[in-house]
Amino acid sequence: MAAVAPGWLSLRAEEPGSSNLVSPPEIWDSHVHLSSFAGATPEARAEEALRVATRMGIARLITFMGWPFALTPTPEQIREQNDQLLAAMRVDPRRVLGYVYVNPLDLEGSLNEIRRCIVDGPMVGIKLWVAARCTHEHLDPILELATELQAAIYQHTWIKTTGNLPGESTPQDLVTLAKRHPEARLICGHSGGTWELGLRIMQQAPSVMFEIAGADPTAGITERAVAEFGARRVIFGSDAGGRSFATQMAKILGAEIDDDAKSQILGGNIRRLLTPIMQAKGMLS
Ligand SMILES: [Zn+2]
Repeated sequence: MAAVAPGWLSLRAEEPGSSNLVSPPEIWDSHVHLSSFAGATPEARAEEALRVATRMGIARLITFMGWPFALTPTPEQIREQNDQLLAAMRVDPRRVLGYVYVNPLDLEGSLNEIRRCIVDGPMVGIKLWVAARCTHEHLDPILELATELQAAIYQHTWIKTTGNLPGESTPQDLVTLAKRHPEARLICGHSGGTWELGLRIMQQAPSVMFEIAGADPTAGITERAVAEFGARRVIFGSDAGGRSFATQMAKILGAEIDDDAKSQILGGNIRRLLTPIMQAKGMLS
């Protein structure tokens, strides 16, 4: 399988006399939902997502949440959606990675699902969506367990012009949480939604990775993020299939940053974040 960005090497090869080609990156998409890929079963959806990802040169897909989407999922829905993901991951455990989806309002259920899917299962992170703002006190025991497991914690964040959902976290909320848990492997989802504000706010939480999934392939976002944080804090995610792999990769491939920075953003940084837990599980050689 060729895990190389289309045109990656040719971009440099066009430069006459270029002698310092960087290795093409292994691309990891840190944000994929199988719910919007075609297929009657989780396995079929995973196969379809992998088919398209392969065409785009993407090596690994980090997937989370199942279907249907529910703003405040019940314990049964949470278990069912995590089961969907576990089934999908079995299609290709090397290429389909997963984060366990939890509803923090149900603390005991969340801790149990983390143990079931990460400690006893193959998942490597936690997905937090819009059931509860991440300043909620239940986040403390969840993050303590995640930190102990060296698991990633993906927190959806947004600043909506029309107003956030009651349980929807802002980047400011994530800064508050990160200050309580500076050792946690937190990821700020969607660059804060309104990315210009998200960038400014996330300067206050240097331990948090900045993920640029979703929205239109706006020019300038990647360059600004690299200028503010350095390339090591910025990670690629697509939010596929709600967004296409191509439009989201274009934010990075078309950015005016050097190839080493692109390589880190497209795969190196999320790989580094997940290396301890994946090594402990024997998932990385
Ligand atoms: Zn998403």
